[in-house]
Amino acid sequence: MFTALVIENDEQGYRTNLKQLNESQLPDHDVTLDVAYSTLNYKDALAICNKGPIVRQFPMVPGIDFVGRVTASRHPEWQLDDVALLTGWGVGEKQWGGLAQKASVSGDWLVEVPASLSPLQTMAIGTAGFTAMLCVMALEKQGVTPDRGPVLVTGASGGVGSFSVSLLSRLGFEVVAASGRASDEAYLIDTLGARSVIDRSELSQPGKPLAKERWAAAIDSVGSHTLSNVLAATQRDGVVAACGMAQGLDLPASVAPFILRGVTLTGVDSVMCPKPLRQQAWQRLGELLNGDTLTQLATLIPLSEAKQGAQDLLDGKVRGRLIVDCR
Ligand code: NDP
Repeated sequence: MFTALVIENDEQGYRTNLKQLNESQLPDHDVTLDVAYSTLNYKDALAICNKGPIVRQFPMVPGIDFVGRVTASRHPEWQLDDVALLTGWGVGEKQWGGLAQKASVSGDWLVEVPASLSPLQTMAIGTAGFTAMLCVMALEKQGVTPDRGPVLVTGASGGVGSFSVSLLSRLGFEVVAASGRASDEAYLIDTLGARSVIDRSELSQPGKPLAKERWAAAIDSVGSHTLSNVLAATQRDGVVAACGMAQGLDLPASVAPFILRGVTLTGVDSVMCPKPLRQQAWQRLGELLNGDTLTQLATLIPLSEAKQGAQDLLDGKVRGRLIVDCR
């Protein structure tokens, strides 16, 4: 028997509870793991608290990322006692996820834990840090280098935003952090390495098709008017990586930045990202992030507190990452 957070939705309504399950109830995939740590992402919180159509089938074990030790494998790449991590692939949405003591998944979805990171550190990074790394790599792929000028990060105190600021500053970029939390200025500058902070209200209202050129590149996890204004103020031949929709799914923009300034908008999807790119991103995360910063960004909670943690996340009471200890 093992403990799992289970979301059910039937004639008794939508509900999330801790349950005791039998290993035979796990889905039949080719790798079974003892989960060590999972995390609480915004998507998990929406699923757990029934605030968005995240879960596609019931019953569902939420948890879009986890790290664990292999206990059984029919997959050629994975052997007993290997330590592996997983993010995305619809886990916690269409497939049972990581908020449980055990998980059964396809070996194709797993990535080896980089030698320079502990299992706990990989989940301190989690989907948010992984997505931030993909955004940085998307900018690099388009030729963005530190000498081109400042790089803006929106939603800078959030999960993806915090890691984006931290990774960019470690790579030598001058980072401008856009945040709604003026009180977090010291954290954004002293802890994460931003050079300056602007109030997100500068970007969140409807704006002009083109504005004064302010940044060479940007990582945007906010969408909507914010992304439109980010594009409008991007320098000639600049690049914007878009990965999120914290303000909205819409993009009320014009083509002006693209056709008059040669701006590139590049999308980032961490869920279906191919395995070679995943491995490359995790290697780079292992090289760039040291334990101290990771510890400062993460809070460890037991599986029994995951449901409350999800509510706290939606209520805006959480800064940094919530890691769930599933052992
Ligand atoms: P968080 O909730 O941790 O951070 C989002 C941040 O956005 C907040 O901290 C806040 O930053 C800012 N924000 C929130 N609401 C608004 C608003 N109404 N207007 C402007 N800014 C706002 O979420 P994550 O960082 O985990 O995720 C960010 C986005 O990225 C989400 O939409 C998520 O779904 C998406 N995502 C996409 C992935 C992909 O593969 N493409 C993977 C992971 C996440 P501040 O307080 O500093 O202003």
